[in-house]
Amino acid sequence: NDTPFPYPLNPDYVNWKIHYPKFFDGTDEENQKVFCNTNEHPQTYDEEVNPLYNGLNGAQPVFLDIGCGFGGLVFNLAKNFPEKLVLGLEIRDKLVNFVSEKIRALRIESPDHKYNNAACIRTNAMRHIIQYFRKGTIEKMFFCFADPHFKKSNHRRRIINTGFLSEYAFLLKPKGRIYCITDVEDLHNWQEEHLAKHRMFRKLSEEELEGDICVQLIQDSTEEGQKVTRNGGKKWTCVFERI
Ligand code: SAM
Repeated sequence: NDTPFPYPLNPDYVNWKIHYPKFFDGTDEENQKVFCNTNEHPQTYDEEVNPLYNGLNGAQPVFLDIGCGFGGLVFNLAKNFPEKLVLGLEIRDKLVNFVSEKIRALRIESPDHKYNNAACIRTNAMRHIIQYFRKGTIEKMFFCFADPHFKKSNHRRRIINTGFLSEYAFLLKPKGRIYCITDVEDLHNWQEEHLAKHRMFRKLSEEELEGDICVQLIQDSTEEGQKVTRNGGKKWTCVFERI
């Protein structure tokens, strides 16, 4: 994780067409290439991109799975929301290759050409998320089984934190949602507390969450969630809305 890897200066330098060719004027051949910013599938962010492709005048991701791991939630969201562009952000090179290769396979195999709306990139979300997306464009952000960083001196590394929450609020559309799930009670309390005291977020009640299929999807779509279920562990969730 320590080797430096490229990142864009700002969203003008991000080319969403290479990740989701079928949502643009891309060919079948382009749709089966992998770009995910890993060593094996490198990409660059050297030049400003045509506004048709950099999110200014065209499609762009609206669902973000932060720390997507093996990608279970990315695949499930893509299947359930065929019109929404879903992006997994993950820092570990090998996992990003795995998820991206699987997306390529799914695009080829699935008879009705699903999964054209799924992609994954290697990035450090805590450092660079703001350089990828435009203000007020994101509809949903998912934080599933985030690293707990148990030691008190490491709490500032937690991915839900006051400073980062301001960045997420900047990126989310009004009424956009943040979903958190974890099997670590202490982390759940931390996440809920920090979200609750941030003035850009409001906790959603059970009634308000009725009919939101994502609340179900986060339970058992991810590999970590499935592991907790197998081991009979407990899961805590909370969902907040951007004010
Ligand atoms: N969400 C997945 C799941 O539920 O199966 C993976 C959970 S795993 C415990 C946490 C993941 O977050 C790891 O894959 C880790 O590499 C990733 N991660 C941690 N910090 C990150 C960061 N700053 N940017 C991107 N990914 C990160």
